[in-house]
Amino acid sequence: MERIKQLLQGKGLKVTTQRIIVYQVMERFRHATADGVAKEVRAIVPTITVATVYHILESLCQVGLISRLDTRDGKIGYDITAKTHHHLFDGRVGRIEDYNDAGLTQVVREYFATHPVSGFSVDNITIWIDGKFDEKNSSET
Ligand SMILES: [Zn+2]
Repeated sequence: MERIKQLLQGKGLKVTTQRIIVYQVMERFRHATADGVAKEVRAIVPTITVATVYHILESLCQVGLISRLDTRDGKIGYDITAKTHHHLFDGRVGRIEDYNDAGLTQVVREYFATHPVSGFSVDNITIWIDGKFDEKNSSET
């Protein structure tokens, strides 16, 4: 609780119980849709509105405590990891795991340096890698 208070204060956000709970839910889920977070938060604090949860998620995003996640189905999603990273995705179970590999990012960056796309400049490189997690590891998260 104290750690999250400091995170919020460090980003200039007022510490409220609602913000702390939204952040705690994001820490538990890691990757989640706005609807998924709202449902979980409302199970803990029934009086909070869905709109308030959305607003808090956006404010956490704006200060860089969490990031927007482009979910594969077009829903608004959020990611507890704010810095640029890749994802491993198993569509069978909807499982998303962070995948950090600076070498992969570098390879893609170098590729675009030698194979530029006309009228487009590369900023961030985030890659979704579709695949299947081993069955025995599927229930760990
Ligand atoms: Zn992620």
